[in-house]
Amino acid sequence: MSRVQRITSANGRLKNLMNQTDNRICADCGARDPKWASANIGVFICLKCCGVHRSLGARISRVLSVQLDEWSDEDIDAMIEVGGNSSANAIYEAYIPEGYSKPGPDSTHDERSRFIRSKYELQEFLKSSLRITSRKSSASIQSSFSTKILDSFRIKSSKEPSCNRKPW
Ligand SMILES: [Zn+2]
Repeated sequence: MSRVQRITSANGRLKNLMNQTDNRICADCGARDPKWASANIGVFICLKCCGVHRSLGARISRVLSVQLDEWSDEDIDAMIEVGGNSSANAIYEAYIPEGYSKPGPDSTHDERSRFIRSKYELQEFLKSSLRITSRKSSASIQSSFSTKILDSFRIKSSKEPSCNRKPW
């Protein structure tokens, strides 16, 4: 009885997350109503993108069916911690080049595959300093980054204003 309750509540938590607006479309191609998820990346994806994720191997993407697979509490916690498709894409697509066209729901397998590999396997759109990271080191990167920004402000503000030169 208690085990059944546990599973039910776990499923409930997963469903709640899945019902977030950003999780109602595939994180990779925007197809509606994704029924699959990558438990270690923390994104909800459609069946077609799921096939590509599978081909990357479980080390890169561990694919589970939202409806058919039994999820462990750890898997669900990990998904909740990422916070859904928008949060994950804010990281994995942070530095996507301007004008880059993401695959759509009707894209070919090749287009989809190229994008998904670039995004998760090669991590081309991630800031390079974040590519291999743990929670701790990303915090330290962030703090040193903001120190640098502060420094550059200090340098700027200590300089004489350069706009007082006459344009003619
Ligand atoms: Zn998709």
